[in-house]
Amino acid sequence: MSDLYGEILLDHYRLPRNKGQLVGETLSVEGKNPLCGDELTLHLKLDGDRVSDISFEGNGCAISMASASMLTEDLKGRSLAEVQRRIEQFRSFIRDGKEPDGEPLDDISALAGVAQLPVRVKCATLAWTTMEQGLLQVKQS
Ligand code: ZN
Repeated sequence: MSDLYGEILLDHYRLPRNKGQLVGETLSVEGKNPLCGDELTLHLKLDGDRVSDISFEGNGCAISMASASMLTEDLKGRSLAEVQRRIEQFRSFIRDGKEPDGEPLDDISALAGVAQLPVRVKCATLAWTTMEQGLLQVKQS
């Protein structure tokens, strides 16, 4: 099983989904994980209260970049309320290894092994905490 998860993670690292700039973005938000040197920028395009498009740019370890790729794939098309709920589900998954009821995490499940490596948890959560900062900015604007 861990081999399978490794494959999915490496696939997202080698062939990141939605990587690059976003034409006509509504906002971008930067996140850093100084412990590891991971840096990323999320680009968001909003249509009303929906994330109509999302991309990321950045440099960092395989876990941080794969997690960012997974995030863009998972959150594209979701409403802001769904995004907030998904971030909470992700946190509880990384903390407790618990999959949310009725809403499979799909590729994100590949990060299960990371939950057992405390030093890598910040790598896995970087994109998600950055997304949460983006939500805060939207609410304040
Ligand atoms: Zn890292």
